This record gives sequence, structure tokens and C-alpha cells, in this order.
Amino acid sequence: KTSSIKTVNPATGKIEKEFQEMYEEQINQILDKAVYAFQQWKITSFEDRAEIIHTTASLMREKKEDLAKLCAKEMGKILEEGIAEVELCANILDYYADKSKEFLADKPIDTPQGKAFISYEPIGVILSVQPWNFPFYQLVRSSAPNIMAGNTMVMKHASNVPQCAEMMEKLFLDAGLPKGVYTNLFIPGSKVSNLAADDRIKGVALTGSEPAGASLASAAGKNIKKSTLELGGSDPFIVLEDADIDSAVEVAAYGRLWNAGQVCVSPKRIIVMESFADQFIQKSKEIYERVTVGDPLDPTTNLAPLSSQKALEEVISQVEKTVSQGAKLVFGGKKIMGEGAYMEPTILTGIKKGMLAYSDEIFGPVLCIYSVKNEAEAIELANDTEFGLGATIFSKDINHAVEVARKIDTGMVFINELTGTSPELPFGGTKQSGYGKELSELGIYEFVNEKLIRIA
Ligand code: NDP
Repeated sequence: KTSSIKTVNPATGKIEKEFQEMYEEQINQILDKAVYAFQQWKITSFEDRAEIIHTTASLMREKKEDLAKLCAKEMGKILEEGIAEVELCANILDYYADKSKEFLADKPIDTPQGKAFISYEPIGVILSVQPWNFPFYQLVRSSAPNIMAGNTMVMKHASNVPQCAEMMEKLFLDAGLPKGVYTNLFIPGSKVSNLAADDRIKGVALTGSEPAGASLASAAGKNIKKSTLELGGSDPFIVLEDADIDSAVEVAAYGRLWNAGQVCVSPKRIIVMESFADQFIQKSKEIYERVTVGDPLDPTTNLAPLSSQKALEEVISQVEKTVSQGAKLVFGGKKIMGEGAYMEPTILTGIKKGMLAYSDEIFGPVLCIYSVKNEAEAIELANDTEFGLGATIFSKDINHAVEVARKIDTGMVFINELTGTSPELPFGGTKQSGYGKELSELGIYEFVNEKLIRIA
């Protein structure tokens, strides 16, 4: 039987490396080791932890080209985007190495009598389940705060990026992280949720699709374990009447091509005012006519392949279905022939409620432009989705844009820029996009015991 855990280069369709799925016995040993490592790791000082985490950051910076090439080979990321991802990872590691001591310092409570404070304590082994779309960032975002807090991690990365998974574990170990503090689990997604029942696991964190999240979080809930979920999104990108249209078009059009559109916070619904909708669509089309689709390692490439043939077929069929329901295909929409998972950059307009693209997340380079009469309609449309991850508002009137931002039901709103990520900014959604925060100060409190200590 062939393993589901392997590198299939999406630019060529070739299997480059296959990995053995772990046996139950191996998984048991890894969990035992993670528990044992926790006993030692939780009593180390912040200074000792920080030194290792800073070293991991330096190693990542040193090897950024190699790491970016690994991303390109396993899931098709453009080299330059991969390098930026690795630099971001290094910044996240440095951020938690520098800040965790302050974030987790005892917090005094104002109480009428006696004294009280909160002591932040690690809880044990955290099971982290991560997707392939940002093969290093996802791992670092989840592990940096937990390792600095004194937890240990078992990491289940997506089955199509095993070499990135292997590399991340090696980077931590090379930096001096004791064995057992961060260990990969090479198992298929279908076997993950059973682990939530294991006594040795104390919390679970997942980024991925809603079915995967629902499966893992319900298993965690049944076993009274905390979970955090970062699931899909259908982020609105609202361009108000007074916006700088040229800048908004550029940000939206290129933003939708970032990582071939396979980003949870990609601008998935561009909402523009009727008064300039035609102009906006025309300019978007002009940009997409100039896009170079090609090899992720070629510096002239703007759009690289999707992560797999299966992902490509799914996106193509979503576009076809939406067009068959009456939407207008303004540009692209087709698979590019050859072995790779290449797709034309695509523009859809005239999408109405009831059509597939209105409600479903499209994880690919498909710019969906909606035209509305006014701001009130824009807000209504933006919120008419089960998702609630990020959003963008373009306007020259910042105070007004902030007022609009307060009316959008998402976990994040960015004004005059693409929804993005940075170590100090909390990342996470509401509604079906999940719960819990990653990154920032908030991210480190998810898996700690906020223990009250009261002195009479
Ligand atoms: P999945 O949710 O299937 O994969 C994400 C991770 O979850 C992988 O590590 C996967 O392992 C694991 N997993 C799969 N099934 C289960 C399960 N039942 N219980 C626990 N863990 C599980 O996403 P896909 O890669 O299949 O992508 C499908 C869709 O999900 C995308 O089109 C997109 O809409 C959404 N998605 C959203 C992401 C985001 O950033 N928010 C990221 C990735 C996907 P394995 O690889 O072994 O199956």
C-alpha cells in the first residue's frame, strides 16, 4: 500500500519523496517522550528557552533560500513568497523569545482584601494540526508561543508537505531544543481526531477546513480539552465611494494571486460601488492579462501552480458551476494544459445569492467582483456569509472606515491594505471561521493555566 504522506511536485506532477506512516507503537513513544520532555521543559527559565528560539530564528534566516525552495517543491509557492514567509517565521520566533517573559509574568489583581494574582502555567503536550498553504509559517505560528510558555508539542503537518515538516523539527533540534519538546507525527488526517482522547494530550490547535476542525474539536470537547480553530474564510474587500480606486484594484487583484489564492485571508469577495464597478472590472482584467503563470522558481512568475491536481480540479469545477448558474466569466477560468497544476488567473462577476461562489470558499486565483448600490448594501453583503475571518476596507476617510469596520462580523479588519499577518497582531476569526487567537500577546494565553493565587 502506498503512503498518503508524500511530496508530489505540483509544477511537474512527479512524486519526489514518500514517507512511511507511523505505527501505533511509534506514536505511543512520541507521546511518552513529549510528556517526559514536558516535565523538564516546564521548569526551564524564559532566558534558556529564548536562547534556543532565537537560534532557531537565525537558522531559518540563514537557510531561507533552501527552505523557500522546499515550499516550492512541495506545494508550488513562488520562491520570493517563500523567502518572505521564512523571514516572517524568524520574526515570530524572535518576538515570542523576547516577549514571553513579560506576557506570562504574574499579573496582580485589584482586590478589596488581601492579595491576589494570576500565575500563568503551561499545561502539557499540545497536539497541533496544520495545513500546507504556509508550510513553515503555520508551524511557527502554532509552536513558538507554546514552546516559550513551557508546553511541548506534537505536530501533525499536512500530508503533502512532509519535507517541510521534517525540516522544521530539524531546525528546532539543531538550535538546541531538547528532544521531545517538538516532534512530528507522520499520520494521515483521518487518524488525528482519535488522539484527542489520549490522556497525554492536553489541548488541540488546528488550522484547516471546517470538516477537519469540527472533527478534531468535537473529539477534544468530548474529552474536556481546549481547542482553537482557524478555519476557512470568505473575506470581503470593500471599496467605498471615496477610495483610491487604482490602489484598491492593484491590492485586490494581486492580493488574490498571492499564494495562488490559497490563503485563508485572501480577498475572496471584492465588493465595489456600482458607480465605478465597470472601471474596476476593466482595470482588474488589464492586470490579469499581464500576469505570467509559470514555474515557482522563475523570478518572472506572478502565478504559480495550485498545491495539487486535486486542488486545481476543485477550483475549476467551482468556477464552472458558478458560471453555469449564471455568473459572468470575465477572464480566465481554465486549466493550463500540461503536467503541472496550473490555472489561468480568473475573474467572475454577476455572482448572486444561491450561486456556489456566493457561499463557498474558493481556494484559488479567482477574483470575484460584486457590484453594490451603496455602503449599506456593501456591509450587508460582506456579512452575508457563514465565515468571519478577515476583511479589508478601502476609503480615504479613515474615521469613517473605522466606523464601517465595526459593523463587519470578522475577527480582523484591515483598512487600506490587504488582510495580513505580523507577530504582534492577533490572528483569528469568528462565526464558522473558528475561535481562539494566534500570534500577539493573546496567542500565548490559549494553552496556559491562568491560575489564581489568593493570599488572605
Ligand atoms: P484539511 O482541513 O483537510 O487539512 C488541514 C490539516 O488537517 C491537514 O494536516 C490534514 O491532514 C488534517 N486533517 C484532515 N482531516 C482531518 C480530520 N478529520 N481530523 C483532523 N485533522 C484532519 O484541508 P485541505 O488541505 O484538504 O484543504 C481543503 C480546504 O480547506 C481548502 O480548499 C480550504 O477551503 C480549507 N483550508 C483552509 C486553510 C486555512 O488557512 N484556513 C488551510 C488549508 C485548507 P492530511 O493532510 O493528512 O489530510
